[in-house]
Amino acid sequence: MMSARQVFRLSSRMRCFSSTAARPAAEVKRLGVIGAGQMGLGIALVAAQKAQVPVTLVDSSSASLEKGLAFAEKLLAKDVSKQRITQDQADAARTLLTPSTKIEDLASADFVIEAVPEIPELKFDIFGKLAQICPKHAILATNTSSISITRIAASTTGGNPTDTTNSSRVVSTHFMNPVPVQKGVEIISGLQTSAETLETAVAFCKRLGKVTSVSADSPGFLANRILMPYINEAIICLETGVGDRDSIDAIMKNGTNVPMGPLQLADFIGLDTCLSIMKVLHTETGDSKYRPSVLLRNMVDAGWLGKKSGKGFYDY
Ligand code: NAD
Repeated sequence: MMSARQVFRLSSRMRCFSSTAARPAAEVKRLGVIGAGQMGLGIALVAAQKAQVPVTLVDSSSASLEKGLAFAEKLLAKDVSKQRITQDQADAARTLLTPSTKIEDLASADFVIEAVPEIPELKFDIFGKLAQICPKHAILATNTSSISITRIAASTTGGNPTDTTNSSRVVSTHFMNPVPVQKGVEIISGLQTSAETLETAVAFCKRLGKVTSVSADSPGFLANRILMPYINEAIICLETGVGDRDSIDAIMKNGTNVPMGPLQLADFIGLDTCLSIMKVLHTETGDSKYRPSVLLRNMVDAGWLGKKSGKGFYDY
C-alpha cells in the first residue's frame, strides 16, 4: 500500500495533467448544499452568515428541510439574544436560505457541498447527477467522513475515466461538527482533482471564516486518522481495566486541555460513527493497529450509541 505521503505526491503530480474551469472563490456567487441534516444545515447557515451568498438547500425529505430551517431559526435567535449578531443580520441570513427538494435547482450554483448520509452509492449517484446539472465551472465538494474522494470523483466520468472534465472539479471540504462552532475544515483532493479546484475550495472555506488543513486522499484523512485511534485506545483502556471511565476522561481533559475526555467525546460523535470509521481505517489499511475495540462493537450492537440514543459511556 502507498503511504499517505506517496498518495499526496502522486496526486499533486497527476493534478498537473487535469484541467478545470474552476473560478476563484471570490466569484462564488451562489452555493448549493445537499442534505439539510446536522452538517448540511450548519454549512448552509455559516455560508449565509459569513460569505453572505444565497444558498439553495436541497433535501429529498421536506420534513428534514422544515426541521433544518427551524433549527437555523433557533441558532439565529440564540445569536441575537447573546448579542453576537443583530436582528437585521439574522434576517439577512434567513432570506439567503432557499429550501428545495429538487437537485435540478442547483443548475446555477457555482459551488456545491454534498452532506447526505455516509452511503457510498448514494453519494456516487448524487455526484453523477451534479456533473450533468451544475455549470461546468462549478466546484463539486463532498463532506464525507471516510469515503475516498477519488472514488466519488470517478462517479462523475460517465464511464470514461480518462475524461477529467468533471472529476477534476470534485474535492472534499470536510467540516467539523458543529459547523457554526468548529473552525477547522480539512480539504482533500482526489487523484483527479485539479490544483485550481483545491485552491478555490481552500479560499472559499476561508471566506466562511474557517481554518483549513490540506490532507491526502488516504483512509480517515487527517482528523479521523488521528482522533479515532485515540478514542478507540481509550475504550480499550476501559475494557481491559487500565482505568475506569472517569479516570480516563479526567486525565485527558485535565492533562491535555481539551473540553471533554475521549469517552464523552465518543458519546457526542455517536458510537456507531466511531465504529464505522475504525472499520474503514482497519479494512482499507489492513493494519491491525486500527482494530476496533470489542467493547465498542458490543455497545453498538446493544444500541448504546451515545448521546443520540440516550445511553453510551454516560447516561443522557
Ligand atoms: P444527517 O443524517 O444528519 O443528514 C443527512 C441529510 O441528507 C438528511 O436530512 C436526509 O434527509 C438527507 N438526504 C438523504 N438522502 C438524500 C438525497 N438523495 N438527496 C438529498 N438529501 C438527502 O447526516 P450528517 O450527520 O449531517 O452527515 C452528513 C455527511 O457529513 C456524512 O457524509 C457524514 O459522514 C459527514 N460528517 C458528519 C459529521 C458528524 O459529526 N455528524 C462530521 C463530519 C462529517
